[in-house]
This record gives sequence, structure tokens and C-alpha cells, in this order.
Amino acid sequence: MDLAEKLSILAAAAQYDASCASGGDSQRSRHGSGAGNPRGVYKSLTGDGRCISLLKVLYSNVCCFDCAYCVNRVSADTKRASFTTDELVSLTCAWYQRNYIQGLFLSSGIFGDPDMVMERLIATAKQLRTKAGYGGYIHLKIIPGVGETLIREAGRWADRLSANIELPTDQSLQNLAPQKSGTLIFQAMQEVLQLGTQYEEDRKRLQRTPVFAPAGQSTQLIVGATADDDRQILHLSASLYRKFALRRVYYSAFMPVGGSGQGGITDPRLPDIPEPPLLREHRLYQADWLLRFYHFRADEILDPATPYLDTQLDPKTAWAIKHLDQFPLEVSTADYEALLRVPGIGAQAGRRIIETRGSRVLSFESLRSLGVVLKRARYFITLTGAFLDRPDDPGRIRRLLSEGDSLGLQLPLFDF
Ligand code: SF4
Repeated sequence: MDLAEKLSILAAAAQYDASCASGGDSQRSRHGSGAGNPRGVYKSLTGDGRCISLLKVLYSNVCCFDCAYCVNRVSADTKRASFTTDELVSLTCAWYQRNYIQGLFLSSGIFGDPDMVMERLIATAKQLRTKAGYGGYIHLKIIPGVGETLIREAGRWADRLSANIELPTDQSLQNLAPQKSGTLIFQAMQEVLQLGTQYEEDRKRLQRTPVFAPAGQSTQLIVGATADDDRQILHLSASLYRKFALRRVYYSAFMPVGGSGQGGITDPRLPDIPEPPLLREHRLYQADWLLRFYHFRADEILDPATPYLDTQLDPKTAWAIKHLDQFPLEVSTADYEALLRVPGIGAQAGRRIIETRGSRVLSFESLRSLGVVLKRARYFITLTGAFLDRPDDPGRIRRLLSEGDSLGLQLPLFDF
């Protein structure tokens, strides 16, 4: 098999992994890398927020696991291929030098014992860094079950590491991915966390200590392949951020993929849905944003009586309408934390309000220029006692704010 064919197979096999942020936004192409891009190249956000082009491939799509939702599972009727380390290093370098890519995302099917798979991924990253003069971004997948020595080595050459949790509960893992172990996945996350902390401490004392995965670790959760609800997913995410200091949890709508010869998924354990639940994925990203940047707790966003996110409203607006007793908020005196809870006031607008109101009197017009989205904020704020609109009728506010949001995806992802 020639290299072009391998690339075609192994890039297609990697496209469903969203844990490098090439997914997870509403711009993504779900079936390819975008017009004009070479096969396997995706736009992606790095840990520090830069948008880069990433070569996203598997080392091999040979896999001895049988995860029901995956096109690469052992029982799938799909063409198999594997790179050699030299092939992947020279391909990555050639594309990096031509400026097609600024980074590599490398994962793999489980084609042997976990240590052997991990060693191949590490060898690729190490060769890129030490022999090929490659200075780009590297995201490596951690294969759960490998020892600390290999995780240490992976973090030495990679910017970011990730072990995918994939499904939110043990029971779901047992049903759909019986060879995966939640315990091993959490162990891998724990080791990445401990090593990262240890290297940071060492560097404070010894300046020449090498860096360890400076862009931290992330994971991916598949949404809609099981009956797990949004509340379970959000609680898991909150606990992953808390326990393992993950930089990101990525949500990937379950893709019903059809067609024999392409790993067609017809497993009776999977839901029969015509399309991936993209709106649900989008709402989870918005709720995740509330966890990470707006200091919401998971149990404030969803409770047992409301286990799914609102399809018509972004989660912050849905929360505010449910808590109208906490509004209106007086913008000229409210603290930053309270401002963050107002729909239409983001972190940047909140900071600008605090900075600006110390030196001049705010008006509704000036709020707009500070970045406040008055279309949403107007029902929840007062300015020196004056209303733009009164927060008296939740049904009316809901109706007005649902307009234009019924598809959700039309809104900028994090503009709320
Ligand atoms: S381990 Fe599971 S999810 Fe990963 S490639 Fe193999 S079958 Fe797919």
C-alpha cells in the first residue's frame, strides 16, 4: 500500500476524535478536513487558544477492541493500514516545512499491548523533536494501561496528552466498549497530573528541568450513543476538571456511520438516529464554558428534575429565567461574579464594566460598546435604577430570547 492510500485511510479513521479541538466548534466539517486542505488537515485550537492547522491521523487503525460506536473496531469491515514511524515523521516534517500544518495529532487503534502502541507514538514524537528538527505542536494520545515511565516519556515530547473517557458511566463503557476500563483511563489522567505537577515543582528549583506536556491534558466524551443524560455528562466533566485539572473536555456528537466497507455501524446496542445530535453537543460546550469560566456548579445548571439542557436557550439564559428572583442586577454596583451570571455579559464585558464604571457614568449605550449583548441582558439589568425591560414575565422573556436561537448553532459558540 502506498503512503497516499495509508494517509487517506488513517486520516479518515482519526476524524471522529474531537479531543484535539479540531471538532467541538460549529465551524467543523464532520466529513472531511475542509475544502482546499490536504487530506487529514484540520483547523484546531491549541491549549493557549491559537488556531493552527493540524495533521490528525492514527498511527494504525488495526484495533483489537470492539467499541460499538467506532469505525475502527475489530469487527468492522473496513480497510486497515498502519504507518511506520519513519513514514509518519517524514510526512509530518514535509508538510510542516511547506506550511500546510503547524501541528500533529496522533492517536492509534490498539494493535498490540498498550505499551507497544504507546512506544510507537512516543517514538514518532521523539524522532520529530530530536532528529527531524520539527518545532510544531504535538498532541499524543495516552493508551490507558501503560506505565508511568511511558507517560513521562510521552509528556517530554508532546505539548498535550489526552486519554479519552468516551462514555460518561461505567455501565455505558461496559455496554459499548467492554474492553475499556474507566479505572485505567482515570489512572492515566492521574499520572499525567502528578507528573505535570512534579515537573513544575522541579523547574522552580532546577531551571534545566525539561517541560512536561505544557498544554496539559484533555479528554473526549461521546454524546448520544447511550441513554446518559446531560446532567450525568456535566457532573462528570466538572469532576474531571476538579480532580485532574484537565484543560478541556471535548464533546463529540455520536455519528451514525453507515455503509459496509466503511466500518458501517449497525450495532443493536446503538441508538437508531438519523443524524448526530449536534445541538446537544453545542449546548454541552456552552454549559462547559459556564463551569470553566463563569464559576457555575454542575448542579446549578441541571438538576434531577431537569436532566437535559434547554434546546431553545443557551444554558446561562435558561438558568437566569429560572432564577428571576435574583434579577434585575444593578450594573453600576454589582460585583464581577454577579455580572458574569447575566445573559449577554461575558467575562471580557464584565471586566470592562468594572474598569470603566470607576471613572465614568455608564449608559445603556456605553454598555453596548463595552461588549454587553443588550438583546439578552436587557431583561436582567438596571442601570442606576433604570430598566430597559422588566424581568417580570419568564414566559415572555423565554419567547423573545428563543427567537433566532431555535437552531442554537446559528449563535456564536461562546457569545453568552
Ligand atoms: S479502542 Fe475502541 S475507540 Fe479506540 S480505535 Fe479501538 S475500537 Fe475504536
